[in-house]
Order: sequence, then C-alpha cells, then structure tokens
Amino acid sequence: MTTQNEFSRCVAQYDPHALPVSAAQAITREWATPVAAVERVALRDALDRVLAADIVSPIDVPSHDNSAMDGYAFNRAALTSGAPSVELAVVGKALAGHPFAGRVEATAQCVRVMTGACIPDGCDTVVPQELVERSADSASIRFAADAVQAGANRRLAGEDLARGHAALRAGRVIRASDLGLLASLGIGEINVRRRLRVAFFSTGDELRSLGEPLEAGSVYDSNRYTLFAMLRRLNVDTLDLGVIRDEPAALEAALRSAAASADVVLTSGGVSVGEADVTRRLLQTFGDVAFWRLAMRPGRPLAFGRIWSGERPGVGLPALFFGLPGNPVAVMVTFYQIVREVLLLMSGATPQPLPVIHAASLRSIRKRPGRTEFQRGIAAQHANGQWQVTPTESQSSGVLSSMSEANCFIVLGHEDGDVAEGERVSIMLFHGLI
Ligand code: AMP
Ligand code: MG
Repeated sequence: MTTQNEFSRCVAQYDPHALPVSAAQAITREWATPVAAVERVALRDALDRVLAADIVSPIDVPSHDNSAMDGYAFNRAALTSGAPSVELAVVGKALAGHPFAGRVEATAQCVRVMTGACIPDGCDTVVPQELVERSADSASIRFAADAVQAGANRRLAGEDLARGHAALRAGRVIRASDLGLLASLGIGEINVRRRLRVAFFSTGDELRSLGEPLEAGSVYDSNRYTLFAMLRRLNVDTLDLGVIRDEPAALEAALRSAAASADVVLTSGGVSVGEADVTRRLLQTFGDVAFWRLAMRPGRPLAFGRIWSGERPGVGLPALFFGLPGNPVAVMVTFYQIVREVLLLMSGATPQPLPVIHAASLRSIRKRPGRTEFQRGIAAQHANGQWQVTPTESQSSGVLSSMSEANCFIVLGHEDGDVAEGERVSIMLFHGLI
C-alpha cells in the first residue's frame, strides 16, 4: 500500500489544481489493491467473474487426432507413388464417437471418416469426400494425387489445448468462450475472486429520490441510477446508500459507514468549487486525499483518496474513495475514464485498454490545450469503410440526453487544440462498454 508520503510526493510533481488524466490514472492504478478472498463457483455462475488462479489443462483437447472433414482417412505414403491418381480400398468407417478398431494398410486402404471421428491407426491424412470418385459399390475411391497434401484435414491431439499448459490466466474476466473452454477440459467449478463491494450515494439538498414530489428547484437523483448500471456491467456488488444532504455531519456519517461495508466508495456532487472546501476539510479528518482537480472535461472536480471507518486515517476499515462531480455526464465520463480501471484492478482483473479507433470529424471542434476532453459523439462507418463522427449538439456536462444520443466518446488529448472539419480524431465506441 502506498503511504501518504510517497503519495504526496507523486502528486507534488503535478499542478494539484489540474492533474493530467494520465497522471491521475497512474496514481489511482497504484492505489488499487485486489481483493484477496477467493470463492469456488460452478461453471454457469462463473460468467463475468475474475479467475483467481491459472487454469492448467488436465488433458489434451482434442484428446485424439481427428478428422476436420467428412471424407476418407489414409496414410500419406499413398501420395508418394508418383501416379497422377490414387486408388484406395475402403475398409471401414469411423464416426464421431465411434472409432474404427482395425488397422489400415499403408498405401492401399482407407477408412470412411466423418468430421470429429478419430483418425484410424495408420492414417494421417484426410481427403474430403467431394474430391473423390467412388466405385459403384462404394468399395473403393479414386482421387487426384495433387488434390490433397500430406497431413491435411487432420486436427491434432492437443492442438486446441495441450495438457499441462495454462489454458486461462489468473485475472481473466470469464466470458462465453471461456465457459465452453473450461467445459471442454472437463472442469465444472473454478476459483474466482470474491466480488468487489462498491457503495455509492448522491449528495445535494436539491435531490429527490424517485417517488418523491418534485418541488420548485429540486431535481430527481439520476446519478444513482447511472452508477448502479455502470457498476452492474462490471459485475461488482453494489450498495446504494441513497441521497445525503449537504450537511458535514450527515456526510461524515455516510462516508464512514460506507467505508466500513465496502471496498470502494463513490459519491457524486459536493466536490465542485463552491462545495469542495467543506468536503475536503471533512475528508482530511478521516482519510488521505490524493487529488481534487483533473485537467479533464467534463470531470474537472474529482476527489480521490482513501477513507477509513474510524475517526482518523489508519483507524477502522479502509475504502478507496472517489468523489465524482455532480453533473450527470461528468459522472459517466469520470467513471469510464478513471474509476472503471481501478474497479477492475481491485476485482483482481487484468484490465485491457479500451479500444480507440480513428474517425474523421464532420464538424470543427473547439478545444483548449492543457486538458483532456471527452466529448460525446455520434459515429458511423461510411460506405468506403472510414469512420466518421459528429459531436452531439450539446456538450454540457449537465445534459444527460447527450450521453443517450451518443455512441462514442471523442477523445481530445491533453495537448490537442482545435479540430478542423474533416480532421482525424480518436473515438472510443460505447459498444460493449456502456
Ligand atoms: P455539484 O457537483 O454538487 O455542485 O452538482 C453539480 C450539478 O449537478 C448541479 O446542477 C446538481 O443539481 C447536479 N446534480 C448533482 N447530483 C446529482 C444527481 N445525483 N442527479 C442529478 N443531478 C445531480
Ligand atoms: Mg451539490
């Protein structure tokens, strides 16, 4: 665990008022400690869980050499006679699950095989059925010697997964193909990390929960719903602590009880310039605060650190803390760009960088160097295969409909300036992410 001192040193290298996004990501990554506890789960319950240890293949898959085609298995020696065509006697048949028990004479015989059937002893090559001519009584076949190469159309034992080799690595988030792969190894249960527990709440006197009447000046709390959904996608356990009023005592009680029951605590609101001081003073009494501001838009106010359930740092149970901005779009952007990777790391996963592709911007975009921007965009692939993107009409961090309308983030790098119409920009598609 990084100490407060090391941490302060690392933050001090940057302007604390505007930490570059890459620096913030490096710091948050360093602070993420994976949950240690492991659970054993049945295969069907393993989807989206994080593998706790390498899976070493106990068997060869496939277990025997087998045919990749419907055809005839024979020995490659039959191809070497120099004659333009090969004629072989059909001495038996092998189906998937029904091997041929006999032996095959090297240059004169073959066995009818179906896809998946074991390659009979003495055979190593399969000629597909559509390339052969059968005798009227099907007792023999003839095919052109150059129709097939020695060793063709044979799947080798262990070619999919070799016994003793790591089939899946620890840290993998289990997906559909992995369930099938584990089943192909005969494995019905695996060890996964326990799910990460993430508590979250909203702050703001103006917020109303669903079902409550909306008086003048109040708004429904939407952040708890986007947060819930984003967290669900990461398959973490969620703990919704509701809306907390803008009162230091209520905030302190909520944060400390959240730290007692969760690995990570996310809040939204209360970190913008007007409200930050109260929250900051409060957090400093029972937590280590790392940074408050990012050179990022949206998402400039973003607090990160560690809080404790006790009355001062080091007392009670710890939790990582993200104080997200209140604006609904900023919540989503900071979640995907900063929080998501930390949650994956803490879940024990080995996160892959989010894929970025290039697209031509169909509009000019204003951008000030010195901060990273994540604009909302609508991307489509042109008939010529090139991606094109248009920023959504509104880029306000309060306009959540811009997120629903968009299908990607347009990522404008820290040093980048204005983008001209037609210029290439980086985009991050929402597909599979949101
Ligand atoms: P704050 O960061 O607390 O100053 O909030 C910034 C803006 O986001 C204000 O307009 C808030 O009303 C709005 N806001 C804060 N929290 C939420 C929430 N949970 N749901 C919807 N809007 C919110
Ligand atoms: Mg507020």
